[in-house]
Amino acid sequence: MSPITIRGTGVSEGIRLGKVFLYKPAVHKDLPVREMISEAEVDDEIQRLQEAKNNSYQELNQIIEQARAKLGKDKAAILKAQQAFLNDPSFYPEMEKGIRQHKYSAEKAVNEVVEKFARLFEGMADAYLKERAADVRDVGRRLIRQLQGNKGMQLSDIKQEVILVADDLAPSDTVQLNKKYILAFATRAGGKTSHTAILSRSLGIPAVVGLGENINQINNDDFLILDGSTGTCIVNPDHSTIKEYEEKRKREEEALRLLEQFTFRPAMTMDGYRFEIAANIGTPAEAKLALEHGAEGIGLYRTEFLFMNETTMPSEEKQFEAYKQVLSIMQGKPVIIRTLDIGGDKELPYLSLPKEMNPFLGYRAIRLSLDQRELLVTQLRALLRASAFGKLKIMFPMISGLEEWRQARAVFAEVKEQLTKEGVEIDPAVEVGIMVEVPSTAVLADKFAKEVDFFSIGTNDLVQYTIAVDRMNEKVGYLYDHLHPAIIRLVKQVIEASHREGKWTGMCGGMAGDPLAAPLLVGLGLDEWSMVAGSIKKVKQVISKVYRGECEKLLEEVLEMTETSEVRRRLEDFQKEKGLDQRP
Ligand code: PEP
Ligand code: MG
Repeated sequence: MSPITIRGTGVSEGIRLGKVFLYKPAVHKDLPVREMISEAEVDDEIQRLQEAKNNSYQELNQIIEQARAKLGKDKAAILKAQQAFLNDPSFYPEMEKGIRQHKYSAEKAVNEVVEKFARLFEGMADAYLKERAADVRDVGRRLIRQLQGNKGMQLSDIKQEVILVADDLAPSDTVQLNKKYILAFATRAGGKTSHTAILSRSLGIPAVVGLGENINQINNDDFLILDGSTGTCIVNPDHSTIKEYEEKRKREEEALRLLEQFTFRPAMTMDGYRFEIAANIGTPAEAKLALEHGAEGIGLYRTEFLFMNETTMPSEEKQFEAYKQVLSIMQGKPVIIRTLDIGGDKELPYLSLPKEMNPFLGYRAIRLSLDQRELLVTQLRALLRASAFGKLKIMFPMISGLEEWRQARAVFAEVKEQLTKEGVEIDPAVEVGIMVEVPSTAVLADKFAKEVDFFSIGTNDLVQYTIAVDRMNEKVGYLYDHLHPAIIRLVKQVIEASHREGKWTGMCGGMAGDPLAAPLLVGLGLDEWSMVAGSIKKVKQVISKVYRGECEKLLEEVLEMTETSEVRRRLEDFQKEKGLDQRP
């Protein structure tokens, strides 16, 4: 057996070496079942399906309880969504219709409806909704397993240390993984935003997803090396490779151990300059996770997910509860909540927005909120009401000119006045700022700085608009880099403009969580940094090991550079000079 190296997407870091367990749950398509029934069997068949549905529902209840205990309410919500499918009026009744009208067997009726729904989701442009196809198929598998008398492989059967290899792992599979036995897992399907990826990170299980057809090269009982950082899997490695990776693993563990100590330390340079480190979140429950990772605040709560998880516009009350929850969890630490940033790659089916040629340049974010004023008023009411429960700051996404900002500010002022009239308790000092993610706004930062309370630089979009490179298009991904000299200049301009007016600047785009960029941001004097929780300790470590003076010098040097690769090389060298090279 010669070693084979295959690559997927690393979604949860860590190196693991171990024996393969090939997981094959009852795949509904492969089951040898009768497809058609006779008229006389219809009632029995429907009863069989109903029982399977009820049992599946009960089974999900148990798994949801398990998930709640292991992972928290928020992650359990992923499985709740599967229960919701079972109750959806266009889902289960379709199956009964298949039996009644087409004389399908229960299994075939399930397959037909599940595949129809799964394909519908797969065809959606939005990465988040695309991943829902996996949820539908999981519900289908569960129903089929019930119809077949609950046969099929169970993950709880695994009683020795293995690396789990599967076509796809459904969230309900993932929460049943026993960390004692499952060293890591690898799947054919999935991407960075799949629920499986999110859950694997929460569980701390290294994972590689999206291996595609290459996964067929892995067999049961093979020996596997899996690197969750690089997305590499080596099948049946030779002795020297095993030795190499065992050492790598030790070094990685040591580096991780060293890193841990930075989690709850303040981000302070060697010469005593302190920076505020916050986290980006998408759901209220993630706030808890942020605190556990050492976040000193929330720098960006993307409220879109609250809207995307619903079938109708969430009410003021529902929004209020979510915002209040985040503020309560954060116990007085600053929380920046962004108003709805829908459009671009994020859709809301119930708004039925028309397809656009260039959605990222289209009817998006603040443009939509100002146009659908009621939507903005409702959100601002919910936000201001929640402000009484902590330290809230509000920001508007994708501001491209002063007119937009002034209009949004006027709506805010009206809502605030109205609530005060109503006698509702609010924080009268809520700061209101804007995201700087459109180049026109960065260019006019000096003008904006006179009017806003703060800036938050969204490099994810700023990069795509400044360099004219679609952030979703892998083909031009090589151009997409926040270390581009033009981006560094714009960031500098924005921070300086805010400081001249006595205001502050934060950053919530990917650049803030990039340890390589950290010395530059120290040199620039970025006041608040917001990132995915997992990056906090790494960024704190970098800040703790540098002097602000040397970072300013480094910045001067970098500002003279003309090519992105030159900047990157210089920053990599700087990390090495400081002994900060984190990859083992
Ligand atoms: C950004 O554009 O940098 C940002 C943080 O917003 P989002 O990634 O949600 O577009
Ligand atoms: Mg953005």
